[in-house]
Amino acid sequence: MTIDIIGAGIGGLTTAIALQQKGIRTRIFEQAEHIKPVGAGIILANNAMQVYKKLGLRKIIEDNGNYISSMNITKANLNPISKVDLSFFEKKHEVKNIAIHRGALQQILINELQSNDINLNHCLKNVEPNDNGYLLTFKNGEEIQSSILIGADGLKSVVRQHLFSDHVIRKAKQICWRGVTDFKLPGTYKNELNEAWGKRDRFGFVQITKDKVYWYALKSFRNNKNEFSVHDIEKYFDKYNSVIKSIISSTKKEHIHTTEISDLKPTNFWYKEKVCLIGDAAHAMTPNMGQGACQAIEDAYMLSECLSKYEVHQAFATFQKLRLPKAHQVVKASWMLGKIAHVSNPILIEIRNQLMRMTPSSFNRKQSEQLFQIPNL
Ligand SMILES: Cc1cc2nc3c(=O)[nH]c(=O)nc-3n(C[C@H](O)[C@H](O)[C@H](O)COP(=O)(O)OP(=O)(O)OC[C@H]3O[C@@H](n4cnc5c(N)ncnc54)[C@H](O)[C@@H]3O)c2cc1C
Repeated sequence: MTIDIIGAGIGGLTTAIALQQKGIRTRIFEQAEHIKPVGAGIILANNAMQVYKKLGLRKIIEDNGNYISSMNITKANLNPISKVDLSFFEKKHEVKNIAIHRGALQQILINELQSNDINLNHCLKNVEPNDNGYLLTFKNGEEIQSSILIGADGLKSVVRQHLFSDHVIRKAKQICWRGVTDFKLPGTYKNELNEAWGKRDRFGFVQITKDKVYWYALKSFRNNKNEFSVHDIEKYFDKYNSVIKSIISSTKKEHIHTTEISDLKPTNFWYKEKVCLIGDAAHAMTPNMGQGACQAIEDAYMLSECLSKYEVHQAFATFQKLRLPKAHQVVKASWMLGKIAHVSNPILIEIRNQLMRMTPSSFNRKQSEQLFQIPNL
């Protein structure tokens, strides 16, 4: 059987690799003319790294990134509020959380695909169900018949829009800037992800290679994102710690990416007949827990397991049953965390910080335990 995948993002590429390892052939159709990396980093949490370990990619990803052994929430001046120590999970699952450049990850995934069946410049325009599956029509004029289809085409999935009725994109009213800069963090921060929370804004940073730092910054807006401009970013974070200010000023403005934060309101239908959605197409989430790609990677693994054991319909049904509750839990928790992080009332900020300081580490560990657990089929 040949499975067609729309989208060569982290979800689509990882699915193709996982299926390849099960001896299942895939064709990928990607809208971009060239696979160009976003100039940003990504954090692959323990659950994603467990999948890459199963796929034989753990070492190469570790070698190209930097491990993180704790995730810290701090005040804007970098005084600690809370800390999640990851060493327990490193021992338990024998993998570490890795921060890596998106371009490096993308290249590793592409190199791993033995088939060169990645069809670039194929922007899906229409999907029409027919007796043999689906007729795919692309903007370049090509028409291709597909018997089994996976929609890995992200938040604004064309597959979802054409074949599934129930979907609402929610705007979080937060703007996000991301950058990668030549920078060496002071030694204490080397293997940590630090996220500093201010008032209606926050700033995260992490070392991704010996001499590069990936950072992200978010700010709430009232009406629309044009209230803020990247050219004033130094001003927005001028009350933050001097390390943060130096990271921002060391990044060329033209290399900073701006994104408006949205997610997909949880929907209970990821598959029908011979088509299934994965990754952001199925359950896009706000980036507040750094789990969007990790959940797409879990999808890739679980879907390949199901497709190698069951006929297509049962495979999709089992995949949805196994993956939907956890993915939705993360969507909801991420949305909530984004609201908590951006409160503006100084009294509420103080109460929030106190509560977070008082939260026992056993509670944080239990939360992470559920997040990092991957069920067996
Ligand atoms: C600011 C920010 C920071 C984040 N940080 C993290 C993090 O640290 N860790 C983490 O796990 N997640 C993170 N995420 C989330 C993560 O980026 C996404 O969840 C992940 O990229 C989803 O992968 P995907 O393959 O499902 O979709 P996408 O990455 O969106 O890929 C979809 C692919 O489909 C292609 N496509 C779209 N439409 C069509 C079409 N019509 N025809 C053909 N091709 C098409 C696109 O070009 C793209 O290549 C972050 C997100 C944001 C916004």
